[in-house]
Amino acid sequence: MSGVTKTTCPYCGVGCGVIAAVDDEGKISVSGDPDHPASYGRLCSKGSALAETLDMDGRALYPRVHGERAGWDEALDLVAQTSSGPSPITAQIPLPSMFPGRC
Ligand code: SF4
Repeated sequence: MSGVTKTTCPYCGVGCGVIAAVDDEGKISVSGDPDHPASYGRLCSKGSALAETLDMDGRALYPRVHGERAGWDEALDLVAQTSSGPSPITAQIPLPSMFPGRC
């Protein structure tokens, strides 16, 4: 399946124009849309890296406590217990993927 779609970058309120393309092998690429009035083909580093965020490889999908996968209750309890004390927080809690970045 190949094709080209004009869309906008979701990361901030500028809404730069994006051309997303998928080739015959399913590889997706992203470039700035030269016809878009907000950006005229330009994308910042976040917009330029959009294609790198489309798969699940390397994403933090679950909480980890001391390097081991943990449940949400355990991770959030640990954060609540350590957030006001002198010990560093060692839990990794993923943010929702829809959480928008800002420039
Ligand atoms: S994050 Fe960058 S590319 Fe995306 S809309 Fe904002 S300025 Fe444009």
